[in-house]
Amino acid sequence: MVPIRIVPLAPVNEELVRTVAGPVGSVFRTEVTVEPPLRSAMDRTYDISRGQYNSTDLIRMLLERYPAGPEKVLGVAGADLFVPVLTYVFGEAQLDGTAAVMSVYRLDDVLYGLEADPVKLFERTLKECVHELGHTFGLLHCRDYDCAMHASTTVDDIDLKGAGLCPSCLRQIGMQP
Ligand SMILES: [Zn+2]
Ligand SMILES: [Zn+2]
Repeated sequence: MVPIRIVPLAPVNEELVRTVAGPVGSVFRTEVTVEPPLRSAMDRTYDISRGQYNSTDLIRMLLERYPAGPEKVLGVAGADLFVPVLTYVFGEAQLDGTAAVMSVYRLDDVLYGLEADPVKLFERTLKECVHELGHTFGLLHCRDYDCAMHASTTVDDIDLKGAGLCPSCLRQIGMQP
């Protein structure tokens, strides 16, 4: 399987990023490396009128830093991401491409006035990392609600699904279920 590079898009909880690397590697059965944090990207994608960061621009910036190679590249941001037609996105990916980006910003219960739940934050982060990387491997949204490729628009949706890929998605990317 193609190796995966995870790039912390500083400022972000780098320890959280490092903790998901191993489990992401288990799902895709490949080697995952955590790159040094990229410090320049976030500022350059800030939209002052929205107070958010443009996820498509972040993908472009990741591709400048990591030109298309055999590896998949996933940027993990700590701030809120958007695409112009949507209020926010948990992440964005190049379908069957090289790069993807996701944010932990909306995955933290603290944002919803609840107490911090590190286990939940870790699980949600893992699921969304797998989801966006799945797109880079060419996977579309999956109807299996237990599959990480199931579409989520809220954190409750994310909590309902699993972190792994269903047998059908695994087969599509050439892996034995
Ligand atoms: Zn998706
Ligand atoms: Zn699936």
